[in-house]
Amino acid sequence: MGEVGFGGNILNDGNSREFKTGSWRNRYPVHLKEKCKNCMFCVGYCPDDCIKHKDGILEGIDYDYCKGCGVCAKVCPFKAIEMKSSEEE
Ligand code: SF4
Ligand code: SF4
Repeated sequence: MGEVGFGGNILNDGNSREFKTGSWRNRYPVHLKEKCKNCMFCVGYCPDDCIKHKDGILEGIDYDYCKGCGVCAKVCPFKAIEMKSSEEE
């Protein structure tokens, strides 16, 4: 993980990939493939852009960056994302 610069300044741009913010998480989302309709509704709501998808298929969550906010589980119309406690990870 990168270090926070003096005074919180970001000295090099384009470095957000270095900060694996997933370590902040105390809950995590589980994608339930059997319930998922691949509507992609959740993708637009994730504040960290960490719901992975390819060719119209939702592939899962990037836990390196997911902060466990639970928005994806809340907005999924098919209850295809379930939040669990990090203790269960
Ligand atoms: S909103 Fe729910 S059903 Fe739609 S892609 Fe996301 S997890 Fe799947
Ligand atoms: S819990 Fe929050 S950060 Fe993690 S995938 Fe869902 S919406 Fe994104």
